[in-house]
Amino acid sequence: MNPVRGSCLCEGIRFELRMPSKWVAHCHCSLCRRAHGAPFVTWVGVKADQFRITAGTELIGTYHSTPGASRRFCKTCGSPLFFESQNWPDEVHIAVAHLKDPLDKAPQAHVHYDSKADWIVVKDGLPLHGAPGTGPLLPNNTQKSDN
Ligand SMILES: [Zn+2]
Ligand SMILES: [Zn+2]
Repeated sequence: MNPVRGSCLCEGIRFELRMPSKWVAHCHCSLCRRAHGAPFVTWVGVKADQFRITAGTELIGTYHSTPGASRRFCKTCGSPLFFESQNWPDEVHIAVAHLKDPLDKAPQAHVHYDSKADWIVVKDGLPLHGAPGTGPLLPNNTQKSDN
């Protein structure tokens, strides 16, 4: 399978991910909501060595939204792109909205659902995971490494 390519809005930053992804999920936490200016953010998680910046490294800005967590964005166009955290070492989370190619899996769950914005309705039948900081982003049984 070819790498999945992505870029920020201005295309100054380009990157690629090798499949298989670890998981794909919608995050409803208030930090994602504010950082992205959207009701929730769909993330894909891959192992760090499956992720590569192919252009624009110098354009990447970092905001530490909590201690040990890095939100990376484009300093030119402001696109919020990547998330890394000490809670998930050796993993990079990439905002699916910035991908140009299809992923190997559809979203599997909603996480931090207890923080969901009250102006949207979710009725897609996916599992709804709860409270922030109380466990892994996804249950282990969804963190398949094969596809
Ligand atoms: Zn940009
Ligand atoms: Zn979040």
